[in-house]
Amino acid sequence: MQIKVPFLDLWSQHLPLMSEFNQAIQEVIESSAFAGGRFVTAFEEEFAAYGEVPYAIGVGSGTEALWLSLLACGVGAGDEVITVPSTFMATAEAITYCGARPVFIDVDERTYTMNPDALKNALTAKTKAIIPVHLFGQPADMDPILEFGRDHGLYIIEDACQAHGATYKGKRVGTLGDTACFSFYPGKNLGAFGEAGAIVTVSSELNEKIRILRDHGQVRKYFHSAVGWNCRMDGIQAAVLRIKLCQLEANNQRRRNHAAAYDAGLREFEGVITPTTAAYARHVYHIYAIRVSNRDETIKNLTDQGVATGIHYPVPVHLQEAYRDLGYAAGAFPVSERCADEFVSLPMYPELTPSQIELVIEAVKEVVADGVEV
Ligand SMILES: *Cc1c(COP(=O)(O)O)cnc(C)c1O
Repeated sequence: MQIKVPFLDLWSQHLPLMSEFNQAIQEVIESSAFAGGRFVTAFEEEFAAYGEVPYAIGVGSGTEALWLSLLACGVGAGDEVITVPSTFMATAEAITYCGARPVFIDVDERTYTMNPDALKNALTAKTKAIIPVHLFGQPADMDPILEFGRDHGLYIIEDACQAHGATYKGKRVGTLGDTACFSFYPGKNLGAFGEAGAIVTVSSELNEKIRILRDHGQVRKYFHSAVGWNCRMDGIQAAVLRIKLCQLEANNQRRRNHAAAYDAGLREFEGVITPTTAAYARHVYHIYAIRVSNRDETIKNLTDQGVATGIHYPVPVHLQEAYRDLGYAAGAFPVSERCADEFVSLPMYPELTPSQIELVIEAVKEVVADGVEV
């Protein structure tokens, strides 16, 4: 079957910028600033300015951003960190890699982000931090989470790996918690030409600690104040990201327009639950996920019509085999589990055309019209 609407089309985004990329990469090669260095510093300054925060620290991936944030907050063996099961595995993995234990709470049925009402049930004397996830590009409801954190002396680390440029009550994600973590995996709203990530923070103390941790605990070359790791950002990635950062606002706006077109085309169908944008949010639609009860049939029809789809994510983290030892059973988090059974991600990228969007809508309608439409 010929693909008419790919899930993601990075080449269409990169093609118009090729001469800029070539020149930037050549500059990195000519200056040999490959690991950390001046291109990374320049990107950090620009990403901090974009995020309206004083500090941004470039690292090797979003996963490293989460891990180093937790380490810098002193999370370690014996601690518990509260997060959600409806996320990518990395959120929980970073907690485990600090020696701490992930403790899950369910998500809100409408926003698919952390349900703040569930926090009190998960709190123990071992709780050290909370990681809300801004899933699909929509910020979690941060005010009650921040208030709970303040009341109980907990660190708040935002997993903003899917939410570059999103805002909560007019404030950028990343300005709310103690740190926020971004991924520049190629398919993210801001994507590198390989692996990269960043941490932003308003805390000069955490900034300092994370900078040292990401470079082998070095305070200066070959003088180590802590045991860290190599989590430096790659110079070529920084040079590429500086170019792509200039397009991020416009690209997020295009994503929002596409989401509005999908909403308008699909909202009226009883068999489809379209995403809700919370009143507090500026959603940046990293993923546009609908919920349908007949997922296999829906995906099959879309595939037959040349439309690629994804599932984010088919197994909630608490039910992953890797986390069997945590002892969670099916039924523990009904909203996350139902979402995992019903989610279908439709193609979403800035370069989608109106006719592609129409084709996707028609292909979804055909299936729901056969079945559950009212
Ligand atoms: C992508 C992603 C990560 C991990 O980022 P990498 O750069 O792939 O390591 C973490 N959390 C969420 C929610 C993500 O989407």
